Amino acid sequence: SLSRFRNGPINKDRTLGGLLATSGFDDLSCLSRYRTAFYHKIIPHKPSRYLIQKLRAHESLQKRCGPGTNSYRKAVEQLRSGQRNNFDQDCNYLVWISYSGLGNRILTVASAFLYSLLTNRVLLIDRGKDMDDLFCEPFPETSWLLPLDFPLTNTLANFSITSPESYGNMIKNKVGVHKGNFIYLHLDHGYNDNDKLFFCEEDQNTIQNARWLMLRSDIYFVPSLFLNSLFKDELNQLFPEKDAVFHHLGRYLFHPTNAVWGLITRYYDSYLAKADEIVGIQVRVFEIDPGPFRHVLDQIISCTQNEGLLPQIVEHEIGPPATKRKSKAVLFTSLNMGYYEHIRSMYWESPTSTGEIVSVYQPSYEGYQQSERNKHNRKAWAEMYLLSLTDKLVTSGWSTFGYVAQGLGGLKPWIMFRPENRTVPNPPCRRDMSMEPCFHSPPFYDCQKKKGIDTGKLVPHVRHCDDITWGIKLV
Ligand code: GDP
Repeated sequence: SLSRFRNGPINKDRTLGGLLATSGFDDLSCLSRYRTAFYHKIIPHKPSRYLIQKLRAHESLQKRCGPGTNSYRKAVEQLRSGQRNNFDQDCNYLVWISYSGLGNRILTVASAFLYSLLTNRVLLIDRGKDMDDLFCEPFPETSWLLPLDFPLTNTLANFSITSPESYGNMIKNKVGVHKGNFIYLHLDHGYNDNDKLFFCEEDQNTIQNARWLMLRSDIYFVPSLFLNSLFKDELNQLFPEKDAVFHHLGRYLFHPTNAVWGLITRYYDSYLAKADEIVGIQVRVFEIDPGPFRHVLDQIISCTQNEGLLPQIVEHEIGPPATKRKSKAVLFTSLNMGYYEHIRSMYWESPTSTGEIVSVYQPSYEGYQQSERNKHNRKAWAEMYLLSLTDKLVTSGWSTFGYVAQGLGGLKPWIMFRPENRTVPNPPCRRDMSMEPCFHSPPFYDCQKKKGIDTGKLVPHVRHCDDITWGIKLV
């Protein structure tokens, strides 16, 4: 059965409020697309009518200009030859280069997609090792995968901050931009001040002259688009609820392939579906030693108990057991199994103060990040997705893995601050301001006045993040 929904009404709207197109897909080749709705709670955030219209229009652009079309062939020909003349067509392209950990990749594809929506560009994805193994096609009757015979296929991985084709270096070297040259956008966390001019209005006008853009990024740069006067009115119309940007874009774009969907549903149905409440705990430790660490365990325990997410343990069972005791399932995700093992034993060895039954699970413990392995990334994607199906979510600060889960799930997480000097931070965690991801390395520049400015203090809906004080996020 597809509807293993717990407690409460079943979400029958398989299009997620109109977000997903209803035709043009083969249902069996991507089971998750229209079944997500049955696993998620009914989420209060609805996509705006304007966003829905814009998505349908974008789908037809992707189809009209995408791989296999005459327009695509002509545009590739222009890229190959570098010819300046502007032939009659309005197909422009943004190529996303596969790079970094899976959480980062998901956030940058979403950022790239939003930028394509705003600038009417066709988004094409470099499949890298496994993008096509993890995600279904999001656009009907076309493909978002960059064809393998794309002229720059072998060059994509070599673009870097020093490439002469980067926008930053074109500015530095005063190279003009015309239809025939492509621009490489270097939006990596280590980018320089010239690369950051991408976020300025005048530069955006220049960049739009190029038919082809290549983007390499590991950051969720959406918040800065909201500060750009060329985009902000449209963004406000698209997203009346500012903290639901990734939530909508993520649910629109990222559908697990059948292999990953199998991992998700088998796990959910076996271990989580019957619980009265599911608490997700994502543990990401940025240390060189593999751990487990005492201070991280202490942080998890004090966070979940102070915030009333998990019950305290007591020495003796209090009173007679009620006929129906509330059950809580705890879903851990971590590269390490130590935290999960400890908490599981804790709730086995002692009764809880509330009488609740706490079962503790963790799907995998891969030991270390292995972003080049397909099976590893399938599990990572399945685990992010499973976390998004929880009722309450605790995440580790700084981690894009957690950001993806909270955004897809529409969950405002309790965020565990990153420990310093291997001690438990005080407080160990706090409820986040919004479910949006944090932009870790934003520009701090006023494009008009050409001087530094605190971009986390300009408008009420773009604020500094709780987990990374110099980052910014939508709230
Ligand atoms: P970030 O580094 O935490 O921002 O997240 P990323 O997803 O970009 O990179 C971390 C990578 O490490 C993931 O993509 C996985 O490959 C791996 N990883 C980290 N935490 C987990 C986990 O809890 N479960 C699994 N399966 N993999 C993880």
